[in-house]
Amino acid sequence: MGGGSAGRVRPCKWCHAPVRQPRSWWRRRRYCSKRHRRWYRCWQAVWTFLDSL
Ligand SMILES: [Zn+2]
Repeated sequence: MGGGSAGRVRPCKWCHAPVRQPRSWWRRRRYCSKRHRRWYRCWQAVWTFLDSL
């Protein structure tokens, strides 16, 4: 069977890799690693800066 609806998995916001979610629904992980979270926030800051120019 194929398909991307494999239970509690969300795509990483940075690399779109499937991220397995913990059992507790209130603690969702949006990135596959801390580094990707930092990258994402770093780029957001860059875009915000460029936007303000
Ligand atoms: Zn990632």
